[in-house]
Amino acid sequence: MTVSGALATSLVPEPASALVQPSERYFRKMSSFDDPHPMDVMARKEDFQLLRMTLRRIKRVQKLVGYGNFNLLNFDDMLKVARSYTSVERFTRAELAFLEKLFYVDASTYGFYGTKVLRNLTDNVDRKITARVRGTGQRIFSGRALERYERIKRAVGPDLVLTSGVRSIVKQLYLFMRKAERAEGNLSLASRSLAPPGYSFHAIGDFDVGKRGLGGANFTDAFARTDVYRRLVDLGFVEMRYPQRNLFGVRFEPWHIRVA
Ligand SMILES: [Zn+2]
Repeated sequence: MTVSGALATSLVPEPASALVQPSERYFRKMSSFDDPHPMDVMARKEDFQLLRMTLRRIKRVQKLVGYGNFNLLNFDDMLKVARSYTSVERFTRAELAFLEKLFYVDASTYGFYGTKVLRNLTDNVDRKITARVRGTGQRIFSGRALERYERIKRAVGPDLVLTSGVRSIVKQLYLFMRKAERAEGNLSLASRSLAPPGYSFHAIGDFDVGKRGLGGANFTDAFARTDVYRRLVDLGFVEMRYPQRNLFGVRFEPWHIRVA
């Protein structure tokens, strides 16, 4: 992709050694996840331009299909929507090539060490095996994930809310690209707080919870200081995907509930 081969290989892949013997430097980087780091891998200039253009088009798709539908929108359906509406217009060849590169690049080249859970850009999330969660605009996979959410909700009480449920590859592309755009093309920085597309467990069962009324701060350390989080811990519900001092290259995410 983007991560120019030359650039990526010229950098010593620091986290590989961090996996063997995690250094304090690695943990410091993870706790200041939103700051650029000297070893961070940046998108090449022309790729950053493409990222911005492609993201603008994806945003137009989201506006058209609506927030709730966009969470589950599959890649081929996104292309179909783009082709069919003049307010979006079809993705250019260069944009499609960019999205492919972004999806298929091995994220460890820029410091993300999670598992790839969806292998193909066109892998679908099947809406039929998800259930709507009233009042959230979100859906959760029926079965284990939904049961777990309902159990947690019953135990913790009405102050607990679902902040993010099922996310398709398109939704994850959007979130990751938006983060990378705000970080001026710093892919490493983006991946410290957002799983790259294909690597998010939201595509197969995990979900995020928060405290009612806390808003965007639910996705910050502030959540770990709430009574809702304390109750989650006390009741034994917190089986974390990304705990403190994890070796995935990901910040501490106290709000992310592991199901898959
Ligand atoms: Zn999450």
